[in-house]
Amino acid sequence: MITPEADYKDFLKHLIAFNTISDQSNLPMIDFLASFLEGHGFSTQRYFNDDNTKANLIARIGPETSGGIMLAGHTDVVPVEEQPWTTSPFSLVEQDGVLIGRGTSDMKGFIALICDVVEQLDLSQLKRPVFLVFTYDEEVGCFGAKRLKEALGKLADQIDFALIGEPTNFSLVNTHKGLQANRTHFTGKPAHSSCPHLGHSAIMAAAGFLQKLPEKLPKEEDERFTPASMTFNAGKIHGGNALNIIAEHCLLDWECRPLPHMKASSIETVIDNCAEEVSRETQVAIENEMVSFVPGLSATQNQLVIQVLKPFLPEDIPVTAAPFVTEAGIFQEVDIPTIVFGPGELEQAHQPDESVSIEAMERYRRFLMTLIDNYCNKHLTTIS
Ligand SMILES: [Zn+2]
Repeated sequence: MITPEADYKDFLKHLIAFNTISDQSNLPMIDFLASFLEGHGFSTQRYFNDDNTKANLIARIGPETSGGIMLAGHTDVVPVEEQPWTTSPFSLVEQDGVLIGRGTSDMKGFIALICDVVEQLDLSQLKRPVFLVFTYDEEVGCFGAKRLKEALGKLADQIDFALIGEPTNFSLVNTHKGLQANRTHFTGKPAHSSCPHLGHSAIMAAAGFLQKLPEKLPKEEDERFTPASMTFNAGKIHGGNALNIIAEHCLLDWECRPLPHMKASSIETVIDNCAEEVSRETQVAIENEMVSFVPGLSATQNQLVIQVLKPFLPEDIPVTAAPFVTEAGIFQEVDIPTIVFGPGELEQAHQPDESVSIEAMERYRRFLMTLIDNYCNKHLTTIS
């Protein structure tokens, strides 16, 4: 039960208790956030997925003017199965200066802090609008955020910048790589294994594809990232029926993480050319399906955002490039400059006994309070 005296720990306890693993509905959590925010003067709008089992939420408060800020986070969390948890993942536990539970770092801790700040601050006289954006299915391909592009595009001229509270160990991430996920289907011709000349092995074709493709992908380097160039990983392979049958089918799930400026279409051309070459050599049909593409975050525009944020931050905050992907590139595509900056730790995200430190939460709470109170309540300077 959330009372008017609730602090961020109470909100976090409440949010953690919603099982929002990406294969579950997030509607109970969205309903909770919407009714809480409406009770504090926000107007809200839900944007559902195709089968109405999940929703994004956009909440806004303040005048219908430009110069607003947007705070964004995903509501879903990663699975807990087969992880050695020592606590119950959906019950918040406080222990030795940290708060433990699935989503504490990634990224319900951030959402709990927003609720706390909304509860504590008087937002009735804002000079700039504040937008809160909560999405579904970030962890499985940013599908929720992609659904919001049209709605956010219409709001973009009212938003100076967005802040995504993903776990960044308290550093400002102003650029990150993208992610392209693929499933490649190989279809050959079965035969008795003693007569390889009568068949075409789908598995051997997959092996050829795996060997050639990383060589053909762009080698360009950007020293801000570690590793500096696009990465490649084949994460799952399934093929064949028996030791003594030439495999007819093989399925390969793989991903690459392009530099921020690289486009899906140019990567697809490389994949198609490689598939064609291997197919020609092996007589195996190869079909590549791009499962999802999440754009990277480019640092252009973000220098201005950092300048605006600096007065509200401790001096030692580093500005970094991240190897992981977030929804920031999607928001940037609709002209909302976006920075990723959160209280959680990346090392804790997706781990058993995931936690966030109380010190980081309180530090971030002070930052959020000052930002909203000063930037949106008092100052009228604009960055655009
Ligand atoms: Zn996350």
